[in-house]
Amino acid sequence: MAELRELSRLLKELDEQMITCMRCGMCQAVCPLYAETGREADVARGKIVLLERLSQDLLKDPKGVKQRLENCLLCGSCAAACPSGVKVLDLFLKARAIINGYLGLPPAKKFLFRQVLTRPALFNGLIAIASKFQGVFTRSAGSEILGASCARFESGPLKDRHFMPLAKTPWHKQAPETNEAAGPGDAKVAFFPGCLVDKVFPDVAQSVYKSLRYHGIKIYMPANQSCCGIPALSSGDSKGFVQLVRQNIKLFAGKDFQFLVTPCATCTATIKEIWPMMGQYFLSEEKGKIAEIAEKTMDITQYLADRLPLQAPSGDQDKGIKVTYHDPCHLKKSLNVHAQPRALIQSNPDYAFVEMNEPDRCCGMGGSFGLQQYDLSKKVGDRKLKNILQSGAEVVSTACPACMLQIVDLLSRSHSPIRVKHAVQIYADSLPE
Ligand code: SF4
Ligand code: SF4
Repeated sequence: MAELRELSRLLKELDEQMITCMRCGMCQAVCPLYAETGREADVARGKIVLLERLSQDLLKDPKGVKQRLENCLLCGSCAAACPSGVKVLDLFLKARAIINGYLGLPPAKKFLFRQVLTRPALFNGLIAIASKFQGVFTRSAGSEILGASCARFESGPLKDRHFMPLAKTPWHKQAPETNEAAGPGDAKVAFFPGCLVDKVFPDVAQSVYKSLRYHGIKIYMPANQSCCGIPALSSGDSKGFVQLVRQNIKLFAGKDFQFLVTPCATCTATIKEIWPMMGQYFLSEEKGKIAEIAEKTMDITQYLADRLPLQAPSGDQDKGIKVTYHDPCHLKKSLNVHAQPRALIQSNPDYAFVEMNEPDRCCGMGGSFGLQQYDLSKKVGDRKLKNILQSGAEVVSTACPACMLQIVDLLSRSHSPIRVKHAVQIYADSLPE
């Protein structure tokens, strides 16, 4: 009975948010999925129509509703273009939580989100084993420049994706924890590397440390950080999400630092926007702590470019390594951060910056969407690949490890010699050792 009451409360809350949609269709023009499928059901307007019937369809065809809701990259292109300010991501994430609460989560996901991700020591241990034996199931994809791997046997969720292997020494082994004493007047930041940077791209974390230390910024990085929670929430697991957020609150709330920086666009947007957006799942004292952390959270490129003195752009666009930049959706569309990563790249005089066409067009990764719907993810990505190749760049930079994974796949499968680097790596390369 209590569950039904909760369900009807949640449905009413969705109704209140949906009435702001005026069916103008502006979201259709910008939806990267609609561009590939041509299905109205894939755009925000189509999903809102679906959600309006949620209370009836939940009983008639819950699996169909779930599938249509999951047909979304959660890229936020629709929300950024919506003239009525419909909170599309808020709506979709809450609707996924309702439908999965009703249907129940598949056991494998439940185990992953609630038993593995919530135990950082276990998660790290399993990844260490996987890293040791990854060669049994994967092989080099053939590009030494990118260093990507692919599955030895075409099966399972990897399909024919090319991906970066797990790091031999993840970041948490290179720097188990840091808490540098700050004197009066010293700036101090907390560092949240995020799962992908920790386990796949530890060089990005190294560049963050190098950049912060160059500027004399003190660092707080507690051990046993948990995932930011977005994989659980986007799969509709509000319980797993709440558990992960609570664990991170314990590590970061009330601690002595001015900003919390992350090199992952998705982690930044999740902590800054989605944690407070999901306030209904938390106790009031937790909401206060979430607000405190969200307020302090900043993408690393924004922190470096807006708070610290960078070199002036080199200005010579004919010399240097040609580099272009892909805007991660969660950085540009969710947080309006786009000038800062470009400023970091342009401050390295060894590089010549060229803008690609449609730099803020979604790359097609979309978190677990890229695994579950790889063929569609590839189709969305092919437009990004075309734009990268047309730019004539030798390096493509971005500011999100998930986008890095997708771009590596796009480039590696097309046998391109273009390298992939995080903007903070390009910046750190310009600093003395
Ligand atoms: S752009 Fe916004 S108001 Fe217009 S149809 Fe899409 S969600 Fe509704
Ligand atoms: S979040 Fe992206 S993929 Fe999903 S409906 Fe909006 S524009 Fe389309």
